[in-house]
Amino acid sequence: MLETVSGTATAAVETIPGYPAGHAVRPNISDYAAFRSGFSWDSARRELDGLPAGGLNIAHETVDRHAAGARANRVALRWLGKNGSIQDISYARLREGSNRFANVLRQLGVGAGERVYILTGRIPALYIAALGTWKNRSVVCTLFSAFGPEPIRARMALGDARALVTTPMLYQRKILPILSQLPGLRHVLLAREPGEDESVAGTLDLAQLLGEASEQFSIAPTDPEEAALLHFTSGTTGTPKGAVHVHQAVLTHHATGKLVLDLHPEDIFWCTADPGWVTGTSYGIIAPLSNGVTSIVDEADFDAERWYRILEEHKVSVWYTAPTAIRMMMKTGLAPLAGRKLPALRYLASVGEPLNPEAVRWGVTAFGLPFHDNWWQTETGGIMIANFPALDVRPGSMGMPVPGIEAAIVRTSKACDSVDVSVAIVEEPGVEGELALRPGWPSMFREYLNEPERYAKCFAGGWYLTGDLARRDADGYFWFVGRKDDVIKTSGHLIGPFEVESVLMEHPAVAEAGVIGKPDPVALEVVKAFVALRSGYAPSDALKKDIMAHARKRLGAVVAPKEIDFQQSLPKTRSGKIMRRLLKARELGLPEGDVSTLESM
Ligand code: ATP
Ligand code: MG
Repeated sequence: MLETVSGTATAAVETIPGYPAGHAVRPNISDYAAFRSGFSWDSARRELDGLPAGGLNIAHETVDRHAAGARANRVALRWLGKNGSIQDISYARLREGSNRFANVLRQLGVGAGERVYILTGRIPALYIAALGTWKNRSVVCTLFSAFGPEPIRARMALGDARALVTTPMLYQRKILPILSQLPGLRHVLLAREPGEDESVAGTLDLAQLLGEASEQFSIAPTDPEEAALLHFTSGTTGTPKGAVHVHQAVLTHHATGKLVLDLHPEDIFWCTADPGWVTGTSYGIIAPLSNGVTSIVDEADFDAERWYRILEEHKVSVWYTAPTAIRMMMKTGLAPLAGRKLPALRYLASVGEPLNPEAVRWGVTAFGLPFHDNWWQTETGGIMIANFPALDVRPGSMGMPVPGIEAAIVRTSKACDSVDVSVAIVEEPGVEGELALRPGWPSMFREYLNEPERYAKCFAGGWYLTGDLARRDADGYFWFVGRKDDVIKTSGHLIGPFEVESVLMEHPAVAEAGVIGKPDPVALEVVKAFVALRSGYAPSDALKKDIMAHARKRLGAVVAPKEIDFQQSLPKTRSGKIMRRLLKARELGLPEGDVSTLESM
C-alpha cells in the first residue's frame, strides 16, 4: 500500500481576504454556507426566462431577453482589434446579427442538431455565428485558429461538420488541404476583413448573406436537453475527446457567472480565454451575456503591456484569466504596470491549471487583489469548485463546491472479475483520493462523441469520476494534488506534482516548473523537475543546487526533486497547460503520442 506524503501540509494555513474591504459593490453571496443550503437548480432556473414558444435556448437567455428590455442599448461585446480599432456591439445589435445568421443557416438547409464549426480568430463574426447557430438549434463547435490542418480535419470529421465559418486566410491555409476528406461539409462561409474582397471558389460570403437575410427570427421551441455545444478537451493527457453539452447548460453558466465570478449588472468583464476552448465559450460568451454585462473581446494574443492597458482604459472590473498568463506576467515583472491606475478592478479569477500560491500572492502585490482559483473541466461545462468572494482565499486551494454541486474525495477499486468499479467516499479530512461529483448538474457533458464506452467509464457508484486527485481540509476547502496519470510513486510514497511545482515556483529564479516521475530501479520512480527561469537568471550548477536546497528545506528529502533540468520554456497545450506526459515521453525517449494541441515553441 502506498502512503501519501506531503512536504508542506503541516504549515499554518495562510488566508487572504476574498473581497476588497469597503468596496461600494458587495459580493453576490455574502454567506456561502447559508446560500448553498438554500440553493437548488430549480431556483436558479427562475432567474432565466425560457423561450416564449417553450423550452430553453442559450441564445434567448444570453441575448434576446436583454435586447427586448432595458439593457437593449447596453454594450454586450466590446471588441478590441489587433490594430487598435474598437467596435461596440449592443445587445440589440447582437440580436439582429444573430437573427440574420440563424436565417442564413435556415436558408442553407442546415438543420437542428447539425454541427456548425467556427474556425476564426476572436472576431465579431465568431460571436454572431455561435449565437445564430443556437437560435437555429444547430450545434456550435469552435476550433482554435492556430490548429494545423490535421487536428482540424480530425475534429471536423469526428463531428461530421455540416457548415464552417472561417476566414479567407484560414480557408486557404488550413481547409483547402483537407477539404476532400470532409464529405459531409456542405457550406463554407467566409468572414472577410474590410478590403479583402476576392471571392474564393466553392465558398459563400458571410457578410453578403447576412446583409440579405432578414433581421427577424423567432427561435423554435428548444428542448433544454437538446445538444448545443461540442467541445474538445485540451489533450493534456492524450487524444482530445469531444464533449457534448446541452442548452440547459446555460443555467450553470448563468449561476456561476453571478456567484463565482461575482458579475453585477454594471460590470465590465474580461475573460481572456479563446472560444476555441471551453472557458472561452462558457465564460467568454454565455455567462457574461446571460448576466447582461459588457464583455471585452481582445483579438490580439498575450502581451503584458497591452493587457494592463486594456484593464485600465476599458475599466475592467472582473477579470478571468489562466495560470499560464499569470506566470507570464510574473516572468515579465511589474515594470509595465508602473503608473497604471486600476480603480475599477474588483475581482480576479483563474482556471485551467492549478494556481500556485505564489501566483495568488503576486495578484495581491500587483493589483491589490488575490486571484480566485477555480476548478472545472471541459466535461463539467462550468465552474464546479471555487474560491468565493465572501470566503477567505487559501492560496493553493481550489476553494469549495459551487452551490448545487456535491463534490467528494473517493477511493475506487475494481471488483474481482468484473468491469464494475466500487467507490468509497473518503470522509477524513486531508486524505487524498479522486475528486468525484454527483451527476445531474445542468452543464454536465451528455456524451463523448462517438465514444460511449469511454463515457460510461467516467461514472461509477453514482458518481462522476474526474480523473483528478485532490484532498479536502477540515474546513471544506479542496486542494488539487495532480491528475491521476501524473501522480508520482516513489519508495512507497505517492507524490502530487502540483505541490512540488508550487514550492519550486517560490524560488526567485523559477518562472515555471513541471514535475514528473522518472522510472528508477530502486525507488520505482524518482521526482524529476523541469524548470524555466525568470528573465535575468541564467542556468548554472550553482543555481540548480540552490533550487534543490530550497526544495529540500520546504518539502523534505523524499518529496523534493532528485534531478532538475533547465529548459527555455515548458511544453504546453495551446490552452496553456503544462504537458507533463510530453516531458516524461521526451525524458524516456518514448513516442510523444497525440501532440495536436501542443503549442508551437
Ligand atoms: P485532456 O482531458 O484531453 O487530457 P484536459 O484535461 O487538460 O485535457 P480540460 O478539460 O481543458 O482538458 O482541462 C480540465 C483539467 O484541467 C482538469 O481536469 C484539471 O486537471 C485541470 N484544471 C483545471 N482547472 C484547474 C484548477 N483550478 N486547479 C487544478 N487543476 C485544474
Ligand atoms: Mg481532462
